[in-house]
Amino acid sequence: MADFNRTRALFHIPEGVSYLDGNSLGPMPLAAADRAAAVIRDEWGGQLIGGWNSAGWYVQPRRVGDRIARLIGAGPGEVVMGDTLTVKVFQAVSAALKLASARRNVVLSDSGNFPSDLYAVQGLSAMGAELRVVAPEEVEAAIDESIAVLMLTEVDYRTGRRHDMPALTAKAHAAGAIAVWDLAHSAGAVDVDVTSGDADFAVGCSYKYLNGGPGAPAFIWANPRIAAEAQPILQGWMGHDAPFDFVTDYRPAGGIERMRVGTPPVIAMSILDAALDAFDGITMAEIRARSIELSQRFIAGVEAACPGLRLNSPRDPMARGSQVSFCHDEAYAVMQALIARGVVGDYRAPDVLRFGFTPLYLNEGDVDRAVSIISEVLDTGAWDRPEFKQRQAVT
Ligand SMILES: *Cc1c(COP(=O)(O)O)cnc(C)c1O
Repeated sequence: MADFNRTRALFHIPEGVSYLDGNSLGPMPLAAADRAAAVIRDEWGGQLIGGWNSAGWYVQPRRVGDRIARLIGAGPGEVVMGDTLTVKVFQAVSAALKLASARRNVVLSDSGNFPSDLYAVQGLSAMGAELRVVAPEEVEAAIDESIAVLMLTEVDYRTGRRHDMPALTAKAHAAGAIAVWDLAHSAGAVDVDVTSGDADFAVGCSYKYLNGGPGAPAFIWANPRIAAEAQPILQGWMGHDAPFDFVTDYRPAGGIERMRVGTPPVIAMSILDAALDAFDGITMAEIRARSIELSQRFIAGVEAACPGLRLNSPRDPMARGSQVSFCHDEAYAVMQALIARGVVGDYRAPDVLRFGFTPLYLNEGDVDRAVSIISEVLDTGAWDRPEFKQRQAVT
């Protein structure tokens, strides 16, 4: 049985805060500062450049990748860390386009996808790719033999709607297309299984549900079925078969290591490594079951206490990920008023209040407190103040 009291004690949550925004940035693991200090002082400070070998910095992207592999249904040696998610999306989609039939250039995605993923493909139009965007519920019907690559984010960042990875991937394969899945809102949140889902590529970030800290590196997985054929377009020396031969011609490393680009962010990744300890001894099925309990309790509570809010997420927990959103015309101001009272979720344009349910550090007390504060803020109109309507750069 998973002990979520133990995991809660591994995080620093400021006094008076119920943190319902782990879907955007996970909270700080208590071990983070000591781990970073040790890497800086003992490894960088004490070992200098020798740290690449003696402290294992060079193999860190694969070693940490193995820890994430377990959480997404991948095998050891199949995941590698590095760069930001947008870079990894670009890398996966460009490699997928190269694997796809030379006569096809269409990348199919949906309008609920995170904009950065769509922008990355729009950038690839300079190399002949064509982005086709349909509504999330129209994706299945839009998969046909004109598609080179299906690029989807499994869990919608605003609504939490979860695509059926195995079914859509099977349809893509039957149409001769390659499937790239973005797990930004899945990894560490839902019991995703890239192997049984038979995805071709999967990518994701590590600062949301994996709690790696702001700017923590992204991950990339390629199905072993294609990993040895997949050719990165963004070719860097760390993905070379023999980086320290310093030869002039690129030759891809074996397997997923070819998707490395340049020097990894060693200090940031060491914090992620410490954060992943929270998942030790717990299965994603246990986290998923608990997250459903918490989010169902939240929906029931909000719908009973806040008639002014409209549910913007699928009601069926199997059809959504680990976050729940509600719509309100003044969502931005409402969220600022909630944050001022210690209920931290976030706002997404144009009218979405978003709340993430992360069993590692949230419990029923947080959920009930959030419901009662949301209800108070709406009943009293406490959000209707100029200071709550002042937009900041990051929402
Ligand atoms: C959070 C998120 C990103 C962010 O990409 P970065 O390059 O890490 O800033 C990209 N795509 C999706 C689907 C996301 O949810």
